[in-house]
Amino acid sequence: MKYIPDKGRPFDEILSDLETFGLDDPSYKEARTWSLVYYLNAEYTEFLQNAYGKYFSANGLNPTAFLSLKRLEKDILRYTAELLHVDENAAGVVTSCGTESCMLAVKTYRDIGRKKGIKKPEMILPDTAHVAWDKGAEYFNVKIRRASLAEDMAVDINAVEKMINKNTVMILGSSPEYPHGIIDPIEELGELAQKYNVPLHVDACVGGYILPYLEKLGVSLPKWDFRVPGVTSMTADIHKYGYAAKGASCILYRDLQTFKHQVFVQQDWPGGIFASPAFLGTRPGGAYAAAWAAIQANGIEGYTELAKKTLRATNRLKKGIEKIEGLKLYGDPKASLLAYHSTEPAINIFVVGKVMLDKGWHLDCLQRPDGIHAMVTASHTDEIVDKYLEDLAEAVKTAKAHPELADKGAAATYGMASHLPMRKMVKKEILNMFANSYRLNAKELDLENASEEMGGEEDGDDADSNSMPSFVTKIINWYVKRKSSKANKSK
Ligand SMILES: *Cc1c(COP(=O)(O)O)cnc(C)c1O
Repeated sequence: MKYIPDKGRPFDEILSDLETFGLDDPSYKEARTWSLVYYLNAEYTEFLQNAYGKYFSANGLNPTAFLSLKRLEKDILRYTAELLHVDENAAGVVTSCGTESCMLAVKTYRDIGRKKGIKKPEMILPDTAHVAWDKGAEYFNVKIRRASLAEDMAVDINAVEKMINKNTVMILGSSPEYPHGIIDPIEELGELAQKYNVPLHVDACVGGYILPYLEKLGVSLPKWDFRVPGVTSMTADIHKYGYAAKGASCILYRDLQTFKHQVFVQQDWPGGIFASPAFLGTRPGGAYAAAWAAIQANGIEGYTELAKKTLRATNRLKKGIEKIEGLKLYGDPKASLLAYHSTEPAINIFVVGKVMLDKGWHLDCLQRPDGIHAMVTASHTDEIVDKYLEDLAEAVKTAKAHPELADKGAAATYGMASHLPMRKMVKKEILNMFANSYRLNAKELDLENASEEMGGEEDGDDADSNSMPSFVTKIINWYVKRKSSKANKSK
């Protein structure tokens, strides 16, 4: 056997291997990441690990077996309910991630729709809704109606109203949306929800554990949670601004009747009567213990302090970005996430992003419209923010001086893939590339040299890292051929 040692290896050697494997990962401990990780410090992390470890083997699958886990879960949900302003008639579960929480809501509202006799369920999503909702729609066969945005990047309430029809099983607002950090007009959505008697879910996956504390600090926000009548459920990820270990999110419903549609029961299974509140079978007790421990360790005071640091960093970052000529923020982000774009055609924002990546920052690029995203945490000190801004100003200069970089490497992969027409073709090519990277003999996915077939044999032609990524070239060639054959036909 090639991939399993004949004889077990010493623990310390294995652990040292694991350490080495991570050396090239994004440097979150130095706060170089602007997405993905919510990291505070080594001592706090060790504490969470310890808490996680105490329930490492415990299984939340059967809530009548591990009563300890049920207790932890209930405490987490009660704390969350207080933050989101819903009373104890609410019902919910701790899930493994925001995606699971959001997808559960899709399933719930589809099933309520079915009960009402809706055969072709539809849900109305702001254009900026998290992709978890698209995934839920695809998995559960619910049609998406995508509402456009108003000038301020929040969903256009008139667009939403026009889309409501007899097939609507739910509408959605985000507090805030992930790409640009803008809070949708939840109060107006609540009015629509009541007027047309449709469920309204508020996705506070990223905002749920920080907006309450920003409000405490005096940041003025429109009502964004269960305080708005008409909001029937909410999702919030404690593994984001709750600074818990990965693997903990919540979904809460205002009333039990709605929640019941989420629950799965099979009373006839030979393995025993089975009831499950969420997607997972085996549920990781450690993640609940760590989330619970995070709440206990921070308390209101600790979370307020973390929010204060985050707010300071966000404001510093916003000011700095607005000062850089050629960059502008999207809308007026009031939470701790933001995005910016180029205001000059000569500055390609994806080149700016690429230069920043090369400088050792981890960030995400946006599309429709193009931009760069930043999720700010309490670990982004003044020093880090200032260094980021300094590098950003330089990156803008580089992009301006070298427009040809837009056709090369990762900038081209992002840029072309987000702008080419023929979206189905783009989807197919990305699917090929992505799925191939999961072949057991595949090379790593590399946007810098994205070839249409990752893995397998070396393809010599594509090896030049300065050329346009070959999968983009392939789509362009395909498109040009198709256009010319159409032109020929019409002759
Ligand atoms: C992060 C996020 C999600 C998905 O959460 P995961 O934990 O990454 O699965 C959903 N909605 C919003 C608004 C988010 O920010």
